[in-house]
Amino acid sequence: MNKWVYFFGAGKAEGAGEMKDILGGKGAGLAEMTRIGLPVPAGFTITTEACHYYYEHGNQYPPGLAKEVAAHVARLERVVGKKLGDAKDPLLVSVRSGAARSMPGMMETILNLGLNAQSVEALARNTKNERFAYDAYRRLVQMYSTVVIGLPKEQLEEKLRSMKQRFGVKGDTEVPASGWKELVGEYKAYFKEKTGKEFPEDPEEQLWGAIGAVFGSWGAEKSVTYRRVEKITGLLGTAANVVQMVFGNTGENSGTGVCFTRDPSSGERTFYGDFLINAQGEDVVAGIRTPMHLQEMAKRMPKLYAQLERVRKILEDHYRDMQDMEFTVEDGKLYMLQTRGGKRTPAATFRMAVDMAKEKLISKEEAVLRIKPEDIERLFYPVIDPQAAAGGLGRRQLASGINAVPGAAVGRVVFTAHEAEDWAKRGEKVILVRRETSPEDVGGMAVAQGILTATGGKTSHAAVVARGWGKCCIVGAEKLQVDSDAKTISVDGRVVKEGDWITLDGSEGLVYQGELPLVMPQLPPAYETLMGWADELRRLGVRTNADTPHDARKAREMGAEGIGLCRTEHMFFKDFEQPEKSVDRQLAIQEMILADNRETRVRALDKLLPFQRRDFSGIFKAMDGCPVTIRLIDPPLHEFVPHDRAKQEELAKRLGVSPETVAHRVEQLKEANPMLGHRGCRLSITYPEILEMQVRAIIEAAIECQKQGIKVFPEIMHPLTLDKKELRILEQATRRVADEVIGKAGAKLHYLVGTMIELPRAALLADQIAEVAEFFSFGTNDLTQTVMGLSRDDAGRFLPDYVDEKKAAVFPADPFQSLDQAGVGLLIQWAIEHGRATRPKLKIGICGEHGGDAESVKFCHKVGMNYVSASPYRVPISRLAAAQAVAQEKLDGRKTGKKRGKK
Ligand code: PEP
Ligand code: MG
Repeated sequence: MNKWVYFFGAGKAEGAGEMKDILGGKGAGLAEMTRIGLPVPAGFTITTEACHYYYEHGNQYPPGLAKEVAAHVARLERVVGKKLGDAKDPLLVSVRSGAARSMPGMMETILNLGLNAQSVEALARNTKNERFAYDAYRRLVQMYSTVVIGLPKEQLEEKLRSMKQRFGVKGDTEVPASGWKELVGEYKAYFKEKTGKEFPEDPEEQLWGAIGAVFGSWGAEKSVTYRRVEKITGLLGTAANVVQMVFGNTGENSGTGVCFTRDPSSGERTFYGDFLINAQGEDVVAGIRTPMHLQEMAKRMPKLYAQLERVRKILEDHYRDMQDMEFTVEDGKLYMLQTRGGKRTPAATFRMAVDMAKEKLISKEEAVLRIKPEDIERLFYPVIDPQAAAGGLGRRQLASGINAVPGAAVGRVVFTAHEAEDWAKRGEKVILVRRETSPEDVGGMAVAQGILTATGGKTSHAAVVARGWGKCCIVGAEKLQVDSDAKTISVDGRVVKEGDWITLDGSEGLVYQGELPLVMPQLPPAYETLMGWADELRRLGVRTNADTPHDARKAREMGAEGIGLCRTEHMFFKDFEQPEKSVDRQLAIQEMILADNRETRVRALDKLLPFQRRDFSGIFKAMDGCPVTIRLIDPPLHEFVPHDRAKQEELAKRLGVSPETVAHRVEQLKEANPMLGHRGCRLSITYPEILEMQVRAIIEAAIECQKQGIKVFPEIMHPLTLDKKELRILEQATRRVADEVIGKAGAKLHYLVGTMIELPRAALLADQIAEVAEFFSFGTNDLTQTVMGLSRDDAGRFLPDYVDEKKAAVFPADPFQSLDQAGVGLLIQWAIEHGRATRPKLKIGICGEHGGDAESVKFCHKVGMNYVSASPYRVPISRLAAAQAVAQEKLDGRKTGKKRGKK
């Protein structure tokens, strides 16, 4: 029989920390904290499986759940020694959501359940605090009305505001008991008016209403959007945690806070957090009041602070990771309400991983595994150009706030999440400005360049969500008067309207008027350290796909150890070093294509030769000491000739032929399926003079560089090979030209001849092809296309449906981005195995886009490739992923296999 409910309390828990999948992060954390003896209020967790059942069965609870819940309520009442709804000493509970993955602020919580007209009186008597009791009651009625019933928040907020006005008070803490009493009456009347029913007095009814609302919040639009944006899939649902209430708002000796065991922005090992005296948890999280720093708590409540410090140490040592904790102090007693792995900025991720490894809290392997590919991408955050800032930005400064997430952002001001989405769809850069943060805004936050709010602290919802995304965010900019109706922000008489440009400096928490230039920052020192560890660990080499000396240099900076793919044809279009010469190159290649005999073709190719030689020379220099794989011409010739009449006429004029001749040749080159047409090495079979020119350019450049003391390791690669016979023809032609050039120059140059594996036939016949090829490079762009029968150029139109969980969900990911390991991967494994059976030292790499995708890189490691090749900016991701593959093996205690050379 399924167990739907897990108890925790009085030092014992049925669940444990590793049961996140069914207890959710919060439930698992509460169970684990109870087990290790931390002060946790008692309660029970209704599993995510129950939520899953609820959704699978048209919002029906599983049979037996009601009975289990009733039994656990009774057990909770025994442990606490109070009863729900009791007229003398009532037990109050909260019902809190919590899925296996944290979704800050997206799902619902209802507090103070169990209060009714009778028990509120008992609470007032027992606490000798009527004001507190009625404040708690109005919170229940308010939350229940909005969260469970779905009444509009604004109306209730309005009633709260006018009550405060009547009583002449500003802050919640100044409201007297009679104020809260009146408000409860008004809320209840409003409830009846809207629902036609009395507000439920029966705690059991309240409890089930709350459980239904928590489960319901899993399917609410904002939660679904958050999961889509965060790519959270495969979870069962949310758990519902029913927990004994503890109160942070019983007076000056109480309070509530959120803290992190280390600074989530910088990663520094300091105890970091927000605290509010005489407040309930949601006051901190919702950012309604601006909290004080934890250090202030140390002054005001030194003993409790010391206890909290001990908890900090225990939890971090226990989880061996930075924890994000919620706590409440009730009349001088500390309770832990939550612990979870804390979200952090990418820079903090690196710093914490490195520091924790140095502190021996975790191993280097674990440190490497702590980094996600996105962390690397986000490290390359923009900042305001220091040169622009040098002259002083004082005049432009509009406001300052709390620097919640670093980096800078520039955009046009919008005031609602929907506007942000609409504007972003039109290609506009926007900054989402809100008075306070609301989880509903998640869609708009995702598309905004940055987020700015007038209230809230670093742990407010906006800050937590934005940090997870590495998105620039400033909160608590209290001087800002945000008027969402008039669509204006005003500060000290200055007004910013919707659509006006502003710049955020999330690192300093400063807001500027206008559009300031942004630049990329310096990498944090921990990045270098960690990537150094990654390089020590990994066995896969990491090269880059680069076609120009500039890209090659950039890639080396990023850690590339060679070029895995230089697409020579890119040089036919553009002269990257001397752009004014681009036209000459284009003309030469076009002349070559239009030639109707070998002689004219060779003449045209002779014009191209010096250009190519210069390009290769530049690349060899940039890659001094590293291997460079140069691929010979690949695209169908049709791609190089003009298709519109005017351009054809222009070309005809330059070449001294008739426009008809050009048009005719262009027509001749047209193919129904150019990707399966006259391209790749087929071109060199038909026009060997192209191969001859390219090989000559490569070898002459290599010799020239060698003479200058540069270490060159050229690897000549033939694309789209079909079989051994074809490759043999190409290989012999290649060696004939290369050896002749080397011989004539009296040079000593070692070079390799190999092939791309891009066709199923080539993969299947890999054993034969390896008799000729000295290396294989998997061109997984074409290989995916040819194995799957999906056009790489057109499949984007329908592939999203194939990936979307709500639609077909045939593939876990776009196979052109992340390798189809099951299908294409199988063929790759076959080719490696059979290729190496023929030539045990066959060098094998990958140069399709997958070489920069972390999951695909791990696959390449597993199947024993020597290297992967990625675009320059993805090189660090590949280095990390290659190291993670080894680190994971080590942690799993697996053997790491034979060492293979990386080059
Ligand atoms: C490939 O097909 O994977 C490849 C690298 O070549 P291209 O993308 O140039 O066809
Ligand atoms: Mg290809």
